[in-house]
Amino acid sequence: MTTDTLGVVNRASEVSFAEAAVEIISVGRYLGQQGLVPATSGNFSRRVDAKHIAITASGFDKGFLRPEHILFSAIDGPHPANSSAETDLHRALYRNDPEINGVLHTHSVAQTLLSAKHLEAGELHFEGYEIQKALFGIPTHEVPAILLVFENDQDIQALEKRVTQRLKEANGVVVGYLLSNHGLYTWGASLEHARRHAVGIEFLLNCELEKLRWKPAA
Ligand SMILES: [Zn+2]
Repeated sequence: MTTDTLGVVNRASEVSFAEAAVEIISVGRYLGQQGLVPATSGNFSRRVDAKHIAITASGFDKGFLRPEHILFSAIDGPHPANSSAETDLHRALYRNDPEINGVLHTHSVAQTLLSAKHLEAGELHFEGYEIQKALFGIPTHEVPAILLVFENDQDIQALEKRVTQRLKEANGVVVGYLLSNHGLYTWGASLEHARRHAVGIEFLLNCELEKLRWKPAA
């Protein structure tokens, strides 16, 4: 198995912890190159089995991960040492949807600014963009791809409850969620699916951000 191709991350099956770590490092390198995890921001996880995940430790540049930066965590129970407080946001997604095998959290200028702009509405819909079809569950550009938007909160347990509730109640295809002035959470049946979402959603957010700079023709 190589650590420098994305082919290894397109598995929806259970994997060993070591295999999960290889996938996370590979995706991290790619997302780092895309500028989606500046400084030490972001965190990534990969399901190992029904009860466990592999997840990045806190405080490292996610574009330059090494195996010792990946932690083994139960989906329920105490956090592993050196884990991010946001580990619970990852664990909730795995707990509530057995088909999720990869979760990615990223930061970008577009994610930071548009999350704040759409906080009051609580949702951001992408409509009419061809690239929406790259997102799983979106068959045509006529089906809106929905991002939920939440106020950023240092109380991760409270935030996790709000996210879980709204994901249960959501109508339509939710492809991820934004935390205001913070960043994006997205997921998929494999880390490759989640990576596609992260890149596709970032492209769509950049389109929306660019639109705000348009001025009507004189
Ligand atoms: Zn973050």
